[in-house]
Amino acid sequence: GRLRVGLLFGGRSREHEVSVVSAAAIAQAFTEGDNRDRYEVIPIYIQKDGRWRVTDRVGIPNGEALEDSLWQFPAVAETIDVWFPILHGPNGEDGTIQGLLELMQRPYVGSGVAASAIGMDKILMKTVFGAVGLPQVRYIALQSSELWSDPCRYNHLCDRIETELGYPCFVKPANLGSSVGISKAKNRQQLTTALEAAAELDRRIIVETGVVARELECAVLGNDKPQASVVGEITYSSEFYDYETKYTDGRAQLHIPAEIPAAVSEQIRTMSLQAFQVLDAAGLARFDFFYVPSTGEVLINEVNTLPGFTALSMYPQLWAASGVPFPELVHRLVQLALERHG
Ligand code: ADP
Ligand code: MG
Ligand code: MG
Repeated sequence: GRLRVGLLFGGRSREHEVSVVSAAAIAQAFTEGDNRDRYEVIPIYIQKDGRWRVTDRVGIPNGEALEDSLWQFPAVAETIDVWFPILHGPNGEDGTIQGLLELMQRPYVGSGVAASAIGMDKILMKTVFGAVGLPQVRYIALQSSELWSDPCRYNHLCDRIETELGYPCFVKPANLGSSVGISKAKNRQQLTTALEAAAELDRRIIVETGVVARELECAVLGNDKPQASVVGEITYSSEFYDYETKYTDGRAQLHIPAEIPAAVSEQIRTMSLQAFQVLDAAGLARFDFFYVPSTGEVLINEVNTLPGFTALSMYPQLWAASGVPFPELVHRLVQLALERHG
């Protein structure tokens, strides 16, 4: 019979809506070509309040009828052959769902608990990347509580950021995505505003030297023998690739493949595979880079272990350009999940 794929989408994060669009594209891909005979998709929606519901289609369900469909967790879980979590950000991309699926002893698409958790935490991620010598921007990690403790310490911290990192710098909550809570600071006043905004969102903050760079991305697919896609570039006209730019139609452009020297592309693909391996990632991950044309430097910026997966998203488009069309991509991801957990 057909394999029952539990497609988990929605979730308790700012990327809820993106997840729904990603899930719709994936559900569609499971009905195309050979996939129709191989798979049956069971859409499972996680509401913004965290409650789970089995639905009959992918989308944001509405109305009271929902009350009837409150998930009978064990009953439905028993019938799922393989899980496909397509949740972005905290409570989905960060190892929490992966831990639950691990305990249920069923195969699931994507990285396990450790890689997901480390990938979501920008401080841990940079520590791991740094351990294998991957080049990165300069940064300082701090605890949000350091800001509230005493004014003298706060001032000292700002002095340290100014001397070690300089302006502009980027201030980020350690554990978010989609640019939520990220600010670019050009002076002391903007720095303190940015630090306080980030501290509202997370226990830990990372501050980085701002670089003037092109933003390049590379998709990795596989388990123990991962492969890297062609490299893509994102361009936009805003100050940086912020939430608005990411999710407003027409604000950002994808260029695939990126028009960069072949050596830079090779370096990015090699670094992506190295990063995938040191993280112990599995299935899929997208690695994002800064390329500084003036110096030729390539710096790794971050990993996304469950990258955007809409029809227009970078991850599937990079694979399409590398010879793996969307339906084939979801099929391969399920096969990789079975290989890993089977
Ligand atoms: P997220 O996980 O939320 O996507 P990122 O670290 O990728 O967070 O930062 C979001 C965007 O902010 C980047 O795509 C880039 O446009 C900008 N940015 C972040 N850090 C820097 C930096 N150190 N220098 C220059 N731009 C940066
Ligand atoms: Mg991210
Ligand atoms: Mg990013």
